[in-house]
Parts: sequence; C-alpha cells; structure tokens
Amino acid sequence: MYEAASAASTINSATITIVGAGPVGTLLALLLARAGRNVQIFERRADPRRATTESGRSINLALAARGLVALEQAGVLATLRREMVTMRGRQVHEPGGNSALMNYGLHPNEVIHAISRSRLNAALVEVAAHTQGISLRFEQRCLDVDPVASTLQWRDEQSGQVHTEHAPLVIGADGAGSAVRAALLARGALQEREAPLDHDYKELVIPATASGGYALERNALHIWPRGGYMLIALPNPDGSFTATLFLPVRGAAPSFETLAAPGAARAFFTREFPDALALLPDFDAQYEQNPQGKLATLYCWPWHQRGTLLIGDAAHAIVPFHGQGLNCGFEDCALLAQLLASGEDPLRCWARFERERRPNTDAIAAMALENYEEMRSRVLAPDFARRKQLAADLERRFPGRFIARYSMVMFHPEIPYAEAQRRGALQEAVLDALLAGSSEPLRLLDNAGL
Ligand SMILES: Cc1cc2nc3c(=O)[nH]c(=O)nc-3n(C[C@H](O)[C@H](O)[C@H](O)COP(=O)(O)OP(=O)(O)OC[C@H]3O[C@@H](n4cnc5c(N)ncnc54)[C@H](O)[C@@H]3O)c2cc1C
Repeated sequence: MYEAASAASTINSATITIVGAGPVGTLLALLLARAGRNVQIFERRADPRRATTESGRSINLALAARGLVALEQAGVLATLRREMVTMRGRQVHEPGGNSALMNYGLHPNEVIHAISRSRLNAALVEVAAHTQGISLRFEQRCLDVDPVASTLQWRDEQSGQVHTEHAPLVIGADGAGSAVRAALLARGALQEREAPLDHDYKELVIPATASGGYALERNALHIWPRGGYMLIALPNPDGSFTATLFLPVRGAAPSFETLAAPGAARAFFTREFPDALALLPDFDAQYEQNPQGKLATLYCWPWHQRGTLLIGDAAHAIVPFHGQGLNCGFEDCALLAQLLASGEDPLRCWARFERERRPNTDAIAAMALENYEEMRSRVLAPDFARRKQLAADLERRFPGRFIARYSMVMFHPEIPYAEAQRRGALQEAVLDALLAGSSEPLRLLDNAGL
C-alpha cells in the first residue's frame, strides 16, 4: 500500500520529457512550467533562434481564437501580437479577374491572424529558454521510447553518440512523422491509418513592392478558386505574401505531374492566375526550386501507453484547409495542462485527455477536408454568397442561437469542434429549406438549440 502510494507520488512529480520543440511542444512546456512542473524538451533540429528558415517550407499560417486563447494562457500572446497580420476576410479572385472581399465574421473582432511559423516557433523557444523549470536540448534526436522500461533513447546530432535515460513521463509533440508514435507502433501499442490527400502543395513568395508595400490587399486571405484546385496567399509583416498552390498530384491536366514539362507551369499560371503571376518576378526559379509538399490526415489510436502520450500533429495531423492544425494542437496543450494541474495521476490524465479530445479532433479533421471543397470550388457557386448572407442574417436575428459553422470553429473556442460540426449539419438543412422558400426553419431555430 505504502509502495503504491509512493510510486504514484513519484510519477506525479516526475520531470516531464517532451519530444519536439515545435510550436506545440514549446507551448505545452510553458503551460506546464507555469503550473510548477519541471520539463525537458528534446529537439532534433538546431535552436530555431539561430537557424535560418528552410526555404520553400510553410512560411506563415493562420491563428484563430483557439490558438490565441492558449497563447494568452501561457503569457506570450502580447509578445507575438506584433508579428501578426490581421486577415478580416477572404479576398476571392475570380477567373475573369474580378475580386471581392467576403468578411469572415459579423463583428470587428471576428478576424484571423497570419503569422510566420518560424518566428512563432522561435518566439516560443525564446520565452521557454528564460522560463524556470524548462530545459531545452537541441540537436538531440529521439530514436526510441520504451513505455514499459520507462526509457528514452536519443542521438546527439553533433557527436553521433546514442544515449538512453530514464523517462517515466514522455509526451510526443514531434509532428506528423513522430518518432514517439513509431516507437509505440513498433511495440504493437497503437494502430494508425494515414489517409493521404491526392493533392499536393507548393509555396511561392510574392515579394513586397519596390516601396516596401503590399502588392495585394494587406488584411485578407487571398484565394484564387478554380474548381479542382486553387492558389491562396497570406500576408507577412514585411509586405510579402506566402502563396500556396494546391493541385492534384497526378492525372489529366492540370496536375503537378503535367506541370513538370518545361514551360508548363508558367503557361498554367498565365492562363489561370495571370494577376498573381505578374507579382512573381522570379516565378520560374521558385517553381523549380521549392519543394512539393504532401498532405494527409492521420488517425491513430490509442494516443497513450503507460507514461507515454502523443499530442498535436503527432496524434492527429490534418489537412490545412480550415487553418486549424496548430490551433487544434494549442487547444490540446491548454486542456492537458489543465488536467495535470488538477493533481490527478498523469496516466489518468492521459486517458481523460484522449477521451475528451478525440471526438473533437475527429470533427476538425472532417471539417478541414470539407473546407477544401468550399475554398476551391463552392465559393464560386452562384448560391454561395446568398447562403453566407442568409447565415449572417440568421446570426443577427438569433444572436447566440445561430452562429455560422465557420465562425464557431474560428471564433468560438467555448464551442467544441464536435459541437460545431453537429450544429453545422443542422444549419445546412435550415439554409436549404429557407432557400427553397420554407419558413419551417424559423420554428426549428426556436426549438432545436442550434
Ligand atoms: C501547408 C500548410 C499550411 C498550414 N496552415 C495552417 C494554418 O493556417 N493554421 C493552423 O493552425 N495550422 C496550419 N498548418 C498545420 C500546422 O503547421 C501544424 O498543425 C503544426 O505545425 C503542428 O505543430 P506540432 O508542434 O504538433 O508539430 P511540428 O510543427 O511538426 O513540430 C514538431 C517538432 O518536433 C521535432 N521533431 C520531429 N521528430 C523529432 C525527433 N525524432 N526527435 C526530436 N525532435 C523531433 C521537429 O523538428 C519539430 O520541431 C498548416 C500545415 C501545412 C502543411
């Protein structure tokens, strides 16, 4: 009895080892350290405050309310604000050259924020490096985790030496290609399924104008929807935009496969995105040099075994079309820190974390896939603007009762993703009926708790 109690108290106070000093690993470390835990982080790469950004990798991403709430809790939001560019809505660039801004929300605070992923990561590392209770270990690659023996094996990337140490509590925040997940998989402790998207992406940087200004509307997320594919662009604080082309990997034109022929990519941009091409003076060099990235949804279960847990992309990587992958990972961090702060046995916290999070991460994974269709195609449909307008009217008329699904996901962290998905399905039925001339939905709105 005494031994069991003593073992529990040892694990309750043990140092937590986080694998991966990406945005999720560092934010989690900050939240845990604020709650008085000792944390060590192993990161395979060099310190991002010293390293240069990998060229052609995702340079900026969109942060929304769920991510902001977690950053605020860690006390880093104010520092990061100056790195962000506000995006009020979608600027849709139609095939004929017309373009119009569709606001994301009804209220001035319903906006999202573009931020450089590397600057966000470096800023979080900087704060973590000065936070008591956090030890950062760069260029240390995790090779294996053994939850039964409570050990972590890693290699020092400088010396090549391999070490093993006692690590009773390990959190894998090491991204979609997680070594911690691979270690659990190799031991038969979890199962995984990766659903690859048959579309890849490529990033291109639209530089600032000669006078240092923005070549496109600054406070918008730009979309060139073209049905089966699309180009988007997010603003950076230095006047540039990071544009991303999403396109089928293979198949009849256009696809990345067909654009590989000499001159084909330029001809495609000339035909489909002439206004964007005009802003890309070094298009040919960028197109050739920048890598073609893959996209997939990762499902794995369970997320934990004994003292080891997966979090963020390591547990549930999703496609980027709702701009929620990192927001969702930050929300994970806030919940896990809250559960651990309750003083409950960490192993019970792992189980509770998975129970509470999984329905929500499954929901955002599905909504992110659906949103690709909306961004690349549905925004061009004649009834799209009407549906959005009708949804906005209902939101004004039934405040708090009807909140458009996009708004629930992006601006309402108090509404879990699974609930947003549930209400969203009811809303679609309401909008369909109203557009067909029925007034029944107004009765539904009074009763259904949308
Ligand atoms: C094109 C694109 C656009 C996106 N846009 C958005 C967006 O607009 N909004 C949004 O919220 N999300 C977006 N995302 C998703 C977002 O980038 C991810 O959800 C987020 O980066 C996940 O953070 P993470 O810390 O879990 O993993 P990662 O960012 O992958 O970090 C993992 C860390 O672990 C380290 N690591 C890996 N293996 C090891 C090892 N063996 N040992 C030690 N360290 C290791 C890595 O070096 C890295 O530092 C986008 C993703 C893509 C691909």
